[in-house]
Amino acid sequence: MDEIPKLCPKCRSTLTLLQGGLRYCADCGFEGEPPKASLEASARRSPSLFWFLLVSPAALGLLSFLAGQASKHDPAMSVFSVAIGLVGLPLALASSIYCSLWLVRRFSSPGSLNLLTTFLVLLVLGAVNLLIVVGGCAVGFR
Ligand SMILES: [Zn+2]
Repeated sequence: MDEIPKLCPKCRSTLTLLQGGLRYCADCGFEGEPPKASLEASARRSPSLFWFLLVSPAALGLLSFLAGQASKHDPAMSVFSVAIGLVGLPLALASSIYCSLWLVRRFSSPGSLNLLTTFLVLLVLGAVNLLIVVGGCAVGFR
């Protein structure tokens, strides 16, 4: 008999061990261990990477803007600002693709990937990310 209390994968409450080895969560009604596939899927949908990629183009855009502002006093900073922009563009693209896939996977039923929804989310995220990076770079040089 397994005496170690396991935590509910949905709400992190301690699971109640039922007869026959099944575990039950009194808080959210979760029953039993999830199949391995859904555990792997939830790991791939890690929110920390999503949020990191979502905010990094904005952070780079801001850095590029600040470097552009600083280049008025120090010309060396303009090289720095352009370099951030060059790193920021592919990152913004990668971020848009990852984040839109992540969002669509999270909010649609498992197994079905709506291509049109993915494309629309990608279009919006991509446009916003490019505006942030390019905008941050351009406004910094004004
Ligand atoms: Zn629960």
